[in-house]
Amino acid sequence: MQLVTILGSTGSIGISTLDVIGRHPDKYKIYALTANRSVDSLFKQCLQCNPEVAVMLDQAAAEQLQQKIIKAGLAIEVMSGVQALELVASQTPVDCVVAAIVGAAGLMPTLAAAKSGKRILLANKEALVMSGALFMREVEANGATLLPVDSEHNAIWQCLPVGRHQQHHFDGKGVRRIILTASGGPFRDFETTQLEHVTPEQAVAHPNWSMGQKISVDSATMMNKGLEVIEAHWLFGMPANQIDVILHRQSIIHSMVDYDDGSVLAQMGNPDMRTPIANALAWPERIDSGVTPLDLVAVGRLDFTKADVNHFPCLALAYKALEAGGTSTAILNAANEVAVDAFLNHQIGFTHIAKIIDRVLTELPSNNGDTLEQVLADDQQARQFAKTLIN
Ligand code: NAD
Ligand code: MG
Repeated sequence: MQLVTILGSTGSIGISTLDVIGRHPDKYKIYALTANRSVDSLFKQCLQCNPEVAVMLDQAAAEQLQQKIIKAGLAIEVMSGVQALELVASQTPVDCVVAAIVGAAGLMPTLAAAKSGKRILLANKEALVMSGALFMREVEANGATLLPVDSEHNAIWQCLPVGRHQQHHFDGKGVRRIILTASGGPFRDFETTQLEHVTPEQAVAHPNWSMGQKISVDSATMMNKGLEVIEAHWLFGMPANQIDVILHRQSIIHSMVDYDDGSVLAQMGNPDMRTPIANALAWPERIDSGVTPLDLVAVGRLDFTKADVNHFPCLALAYKALEAGGTSTAILNAANEVAVDAFLNHQIGFTHIAKIIDRVLTELPSNNGDTLEQVLADDQQARQFAKTLIN
C-alpha cells in the first residue's frame, strides 16, 4: 500500500489524481490533502478519502475547515501555512507526493519532498523552471524518484530508455532531439492582429484539455510550451537546441523522441491527464486510469505544423531565458505569473503578457542561481518590476 500526499488536491490535476486513486483502493491510501483556501472543496474530498491530515495555506480557511471536520465527527488533523505543506510532503510514512500546486507556490513543498527522498509525481513545472539545477541536485543527493506528470514529459519519459533515466543519469546518448507537441491553444487559428482583443474567457476555453486558469492562459500564449521546454531541459538533460516544438492540433501524440538511427518514438492517447498520472503512480507497472481507449479511426487524421514565434512570442522568450541560464528562467516565470494574473483580472490585454515578460527579462540582471536565496530574491524582484509595468 502506497501512502500518498496530494499537494493542490482541489485543482484540476488533484481531482484527476483522486479519480485514478479511487479506482485502486487496494494500492493507494491518501495521507494528506492540501489546498489554498477552497474550504468546501477540500472538506468534500476529506469526506470522500478520510486522509490523516488536511492542510490549507490560508489560516482562516483552515479554521473553517476544522469546524466542519469536528462537526462531521472526523479524526483528521487540520494544519495551515507553507511549513505545514512542507511537512506533509516530507513526513516519514509518506511514500509518494503528487506536486500539483500551481505556480511558484509549489516550489518549497516540492523541494521538501525531494530533500526527503520521496517518489515525486511532478505536475508543478514552475518548480523546475525556477530552480532546475538546485532541484535536480536535491533529487539526486537524497535518492528521490522524479516522475513527470506533465503529459509531454511523461510521453518522453515513456519513449526513453527508462532504466538509465531512472537513476537521473540519462546522458542523451543516441538521442538527436526531443519533440514536444503543442495543441496551439484556443488562438491557433486567429490572425496575429486579432490577439489584441481576446478576453480571459476566450483564453481559458482550451480546445482539447480541461485545466486550471493559469495553465490555460499559458497554453493560449504558448508560454506553457516554453515552460515545458525548460522543464524538459532539466528532466532529460537536453540542451535547448535539441528540444523542438511542433503544433499538433489533435493532442493525440503527446511528444516524441527522435533517435540518431532515424527511429522516432511517440506516445499516444486521448488527451486526458489521468493517463500520465496513472503511468507515474504505478510505474513501472500499468494500471487502469479510466481513460477512454484511443480510437484512431475516429480521430481520422493527425496534423503537424510549425510553431510560429511571431504569433506566439512567449515561446521565443522561454528559449531566450533558457539559453541565458541562471535565474533568467525564474525571472521569466515570475513575470509571467504576474502578467497572467493581471490579464485574468482584466488589467492588461492578452498581447501585453509577452511585452511585460520581455521587458522584465531584458532589464533585470540575472545571477547564476546557485542558491535558493538567489532564486527567491530574483523571483521577488521580477514580480515587483512586472507590477510596476501594469499599474
Ligand atoms: P489548478 O489551478 O486547477 O489547481 C491548483 C491547486 O493548487 C489547487 O488545489 C489550489 O488550491 C492550490 N493552490 C493554488 N495556489 C496555492 C498556494 N499559493 N499555495 C498552496 N496551494 C495553492 O491548477 P492545475 O491546472 O491543476 O495545475 C497544477 C499544476 O500542474 C500547474 O503547475 C500546471 O502547470 C501543472 N499541469 C497541469 C495540467 C492540467 O491538465 N491541469 C497539465 C500539466 C501540468
Ligand atoms: Mg503539458
